[in-house]
Amino acid sequence: MNLMVESNLFESVKKNLCSCSADLALDENIEALLKTPRREVSVAIPVRMDTGKIQVFQSFRVQYNDALGPMKGGIRYHPDETIDTIRGLAAIMTWKCALHDLPLGGAKGGVICNPKALSERELERLSRSYVQEMFPYIGPDRDIPAPDVYTDARVMAWMMDEYSRIAGKTIFGSFTGKPVLLGGSEGRGEATALGGWYAIREAMHRRERDFSGITVAVQGFGNVGAHAALLGQELFGARVVAVSDSRGAIYNPDGLAVRDLVEHKKKTGSVIRFPGATNIPGEEILTLPVDVLIPAALENTITSRNADQVRAAVVAEFANGPTSHEADEILFGSGITVLPDILVNAGGVIVSHFEMIQNFTMDHWDRNKVARKLEGKMVGSFKTVSDLAENNNVSLRKAAYTLAVGRVAGAMRLRGWA
Ligand code: GLU
Repeated sequence: MNLMVESNLFESVKKNLCSCSADLALDENIEALLKTPRREVSVAIPVRMDTGKIQVFQSFRVQYNDALGPMKGGIRYHPDETIDTIRGLAAIMTWKCALHDLPLGGAKGGVICNPKALSERELERLSRSYVQEMFPYIGPDRDIPAPDVYTDARVMAWMMDEYSRIAGKTIFGSFTGKPVLLGGSEGRGEATALGGWYAIREAMHRRERDFSGITVAVQGFGNVGAHAALLGQELFGARVVAVSDSRGAIYNPDGLAVRDLVEHKKKTGSVIRFPGATNIPGEEILTLPVDVLIPAALENTITSRNADQVRAAVVAEFANGPTSHEADEILFGSGITVLPDILVNAGGVIVSHFEMIQNFTMDHWDRNKVARKLEGKMVGSFKTVSDLAENNNVSLRKAAYTLAVGRVAGAMRLRGWA
């Protein structure tokens, strides 16, 4: 397999879709629509830099499908962003919302930029300009963006403010993942990792494996990866033996003190050179003998090049699209349980939906209520997907896609789209 083709996320997502279209007996018009984004907005945004010069940033919003409701999905800031990656991620959002029965469609946005090289003011001007350009296409009943790779609550606050200024009134429901003081939900910051851990716990129970003290390797130490390690250790009793970031990986088979590691990363800018741990090359984290491997960084981490070296019993995709379609088949053949992204990392968008409900009803839920409702959602969806996978003897990904795509196709049929 040509690695260029294999590593095109949108192609990989379309192959996942094809793998369930026969079981669903999809009409060819519906299938063609399901493989095509409904709207793509691409804008070159001029931003005045601190030097006074203008720099132009290419930006996208792909609105994939809104059969089930207004579209939803994050905005990423990344130097290697491409429109095809955004298309794949927007499709993934569509299936993710459908799988968890949220009344939402799927979208994704991105800006090609290196946020680490921008000042705070430049980042704010870029974020506000993005909203000015996208204003006609987004909004609480059209498309509601949220944080993603290298965007956070601070960026959402600027964006919500800009949207509200243009609209002439405060509209909290225009963005999710906001600071709690500005209509954000309690628990949104750690929601993806917490939801993911509920699913890992259910998977371990289902396989009748001992859950306490399981060993974990976490690839990526951004918002999702750091929370995955922290919650794994402190709330779920896991032994986090390895973590990595873009500079390398560290390993200690006896376990890492994750809270100290978070401080170490804050101070030094990386997880490497953590006292008491061994530095190893970044990619070796994927091949360690652990109970659970958590890819929590970017897409295309596990491909046909390295899939046969994975030694974890379970791969939990906290990132979007970390496993290519080809690698997924290799892992399934090796008896490794893959908890697919659309199932296991939905905690973020589930709590985003809770945030929308709180904004629309002018309410504020406490942290316990958010966690309880998130747990109910994750446990329920995990059971539905696992039952189907077991009954049909297929992978969890195929079962999850069958359920999700079936719901989107059903809504399209009812709306008379094909
Ligand atoms: N960026 C997150 C995801 O990929 C959350 C999206 C949202 O909350 O809308 O699922």
